[in-house]
Amino acid sequence: MPIQAPAAELVDKLVLANRILYDHGVVDGLGHASVRHDSAPDVFLLSCNRAPAMVRRQDIVCYNYDGDAVSSTTERPYLERFIHAEIYRARPDVVAVVHSHSPSVIPFAVTRQALRPVFHMSGFLAGGSAHFEIRESSGNTDMLIRSSYLGEALAKSLGSHTCVLMRGHGSTVVGTSIEQVVYRAIYAEVNARLQLAAHGLGDITFLNEEEAQMASDMNDGQIPRSWNLWVKRLGAIDLDA
Ligand SMILES: [Zn+2]
Repeated sequence: MPIQAPAAELVDKLVLANRILYDHGVVDGLGHASVRHDSAPDVFLLSCNRAPAMVRRQDIVCYNYDGDAVSSTTERPYLERFIHAEIYRARPDVVAVVHSHSPSVIPFAVTRQALRPVFHMSGFLAGGSAHFEIRESSGNTDMLIRSSYLGEALAKSLGSHTCVLMRGHGSTVVGTSIEQVVYRAIYAEVNARLQLAAHGLGDITFLNEEEAQMASDMNDGQIPRSWNLWVKRLGAIDLDA
């Protein structure tokens, strides 16, 4: 049975998310954002194989947990759609996912150092980031999550965290809305820069778990303000072109 079309507003938000993430340097030609379908919970929306800044409404495709397209498309899919598929399968609480190769997290991923909240904007990193070592499940690879098997291994490493660093590759963040996951992707990158800078100066006092949780709850209420600014920064845009 064909699935119901997603809400037009959800598609528009996902297109905007792609462009905002590029505008903030979180994604470049690669990287992707997805959201769970609003009326078919075991389906998610993700662009076809296109650079995030060029994603249009008509590029958004619905996929199932196996990474198969369940809406009509003739376009190539992203190789790494299994990141999204397996996280949605494993985490019913997750509504949106961003995968990127944003550069500042890479030093942490290759040294198994967790990202931890250095300021209130990154309270969502309470408990620290998770770590994924692809060699443990597949030996030597091209580092990409190109199968359900690897996606499942990544989702297992993510566990109940909000962010997983992927050694030699990048990171993936999850959230309960498109706006929140874009916020988290932007501030995971900012936190990585600040944590690295602080580390060179001396011992870091991170937000403790309680501070981080309180800051995270506060920030969640402020996300619409940031989202409106990020959309405005894009200027006059056509979501169909
Ligand atoms: Zn990747």
